[in-house]
Amino acid sequence: MPARYSLRPFYITFSYIGMAGWVFSMIFHTRDFNFTEKLDYFAAGASVLYGLYYTPVRIFRLDQKKPPVKQTLLRLWTITCVLLYIAHVSYLTLWRWDYIYNMAANVAAGVVQYILWSCFSVQRYRKLGKPWAAWPGLIVASVVMAMSLELLDFPPLSGMMDAHSLWHLGTVGPTYWWYK
Ligand SMILES: [Zn+2]
Repeated sequence: MPARYSLRPFYITFSYIGMAGWVFSMIFHTRDFNFTEKLDYFAAGASVLYGLYYTPVRIFRLDQKKPPVKQTLLRLWTITCVLLYIAHVSYLTLWRWDYIYNMAANVAAGVVQYILWSCFSVQRYRKLGKPWAAWPGLIVASVVMAMSLELLDFPPLSGMMDAHSLWHLGTVGPTYWWYK
């Protein structure tokens, strides 16, 4: 990725938040304590919210300097997302550790970005007719399929493999594909 490409810092931040999310997730799934659970949930929340933040930046190219209204929109959108994250963490820390709310918040943030990416993909594919133009939409569809494991939970198979472990496994492929 060229150093002068203006979306580069967004992709780099995206990858760091993603790495933090998966590292904290690994730690939590090997050592299940109050503290490790919070780290996992907050990092996962940050990663979903960053995805939501980044999507309109890429689709509407809010990283561009012209017209100047894009910079204003980018600032407003950044502040909105930072405040949303602070509100989310504050609610879970100071008010109530609420699993249902946490899941609902992540699913809502996820669904909005998936809809945006799907519309973007359809539009680009129609315009360019290239298979890779449809990739974001297909990746989103595969993540949604993996995510359905989170919502349609079942007891562990052979007492070992539960829906959540399969969800983690199911995110490996789309992540690799996404970075391509
Ligand atoms: Zn997990």
